[in-house]
Amino acid sequence: MRKSLLSILLISYFFTQAQTKSLWSDDLILTPEKSNFEKTSTYGDVMNFINAIKGKSPYIQISTLGKSPMGKDIPIVILSNPSVSTPEQAKASGKPVVYIQGNIHAGEVEGKEAVMMMIRDILLGNKLSLLDNQIILFVPIYNSDGNDKMAKGLRPTQENSPLETGERENGQGLDLNRDGIKMEAPETAGLVQNVITAWDPQMSVDLHTTNGTWHAYSLTWAPSYLYAGEPGTYHYTNDVMLPAITQKIKDTYGMFFGPYGDYNTREGWPVKNFYTYNHHPRYIVNQFGLRNRMAILSEAFAHERFYQRIYSTYTFVYEILDYCNKHGKEIMQINHDADLAAVKNVLDNAGKVKKGVRYKMVPTAQKLNGFRTYDYTPFFRADGSKTLVKKGNIVTYDSVTYYGEFKDTVQSTLPRGYIIPAAQSAIADQLIKQGATVTKLEKDEKLSGEIFTVEKYDRSTRKFEGHNMASAEGKFEAATRIAKKGDYMVDLAQPLANLIFYMLEPQSDDGLLTWNFFDSYFDQNGVSTKPVEFPIFKYFSLPVPPKEKTKTKKKS
Ligand SMILES: [Zn+2]
Repeated sequence: MRKSLLSILLISYFFTQAQTKSLWSDDLILTPEKSNFEKTSTYGDVMNFINAIKGKSPYIQISTLGKSPMGKDIPIVILSNPSVSTPEQAKASGKPVVYIQGNIHAGEVEGKEAVMMMIRDILLGNKLSLLDNQIILFVPIYNSDGNDKMAKGLRPTQENSPLETGERENGQGLDLNRDGIKMEAPETAGLVQNVITAWDPQMSVDLHTTNGTWHAYSLTWAPSYLYAGEPGTYHYTNDVMLPAITQKIKDTYGMFFGPYGDYNTREGWPVKNFYTYNHHPRYIVNQFGLRNRMAILSEAFAHERFYQRIYSTYTFVYEILDYCNKHGKEIMQINHDADLAAVKNVLDNAGKVKKGVRYKMVPTAQKLNGFRTYDYTPFFRADGSKTLVKKGNIVTYDSVTYYGEFKDTVQSTLPRGYIIPAAQSAIADQLIKQGATVTKLEKDEKLSGEIFTVEKYDRSTRKFEGHNMASAEGKFEAATRIAKKGDYMVDLAQPLANLIFYMLEPQSDDGLLTWNFFDSYFDQNGVSTKPVEFPIFKYFSLPVPPKEKTKTKKKS
């Protein structure tokens, strides 16, 4: 007995040694690791890593998000146990899909490296149990084109660590984190079509680096913000999951994480206000809330060294995955409930309730206490002018007002649906690209609801992402219209109701009108000289089918 047990142990010892030796190879060592963290991986380095690791584990599959504008294939690394390679297999497994994306801004490179480290540690290290209850999709290099335009000084706040990084924009010169509504980049179209619509991730994480504020958190985070979406997904992410992870990271690793924001030293010192970023669904993370799914923005602290930023991002990714591995069913249930709530709201309240279409940032009820920051002190320059200069010590301040929530400033009635005239097929196409269900009318329909008349149509003089962004002022009035055969009908009683509402409402602060989809229509109709009807009609109830029409008549 003893002898055979010993020989089994010896055999398994040598087998493990041999296996580890054969599995581990130099091409799994990442570019930063090989360069004392002076360099970040090129697109070719990432592909070499993926090719090197994919033959070493049965739990990895490679798919593609699409092609970058410069023709690079953007890889999706699928990790699962047992292995799945298609969304159908993922769905059949009953496990939640979690999506982790690095390098959307290719100057912010630690997410890319942290994701590869995580892939390596799940497949060949000691983190395989992360695949017990979830399927993980990793996209290490979302902005593949921007990544390889490496140069010094593209990220001044990162202070040459690494020495060179890629640039923020993609191969078309677009900021991929402003493209969520207009979808002009193939990366965005690929993300929506080949990740979001196909795999339906229950949790998505977008990895970034901050732009400069000297708070003293190794990493700051934000949930998919609450504005026009269902509240359940936001509250779980913001009130339950992120505080639990933040506390665990402090207790386990001694690192300080906290909510995302910037302060402005021009407001004086000590710091009084800390401001997050915008709510708009053009930001990928914020769009998920309108899709009834959870998402997290991760922002490593720009002023820490590259190796530290990789570690804080890696730690956050690990703890998010560990959390989802343990709470996946709960997360799926909350997301599913949000789907049902979005549909139910339309079925029960169409024509009766208003929802916000424009929002402003407001303070949270709770102030930030123990807020960590590098300290500042007044300093007089040689010319006598006064400024504040940063000191080397970290201090904490209480009662800092946190602008971390959003309140509506303009509202609009929730309709049962919208009619898009056949001539506006680009609008219907855009909704379909976003995953919405749009049908064509097979016959004329008389519908009651509201029409919006645009009295003032403005376009910004300054270009943003290639656009002179538009806004419309005017008024809604009750109206009845004949929708024509061949027009598009968007029944809002579908899970994407909140996203469709935000895209189609004429006064939305991040809708299709904002992004100039209606410019030519308004110009052709002379909006600069007279009021013009917005071409999308909102109806408040479905057309009554002929059979029921007779019934109703009999009753009355
Ligand atoms: Zn960024």
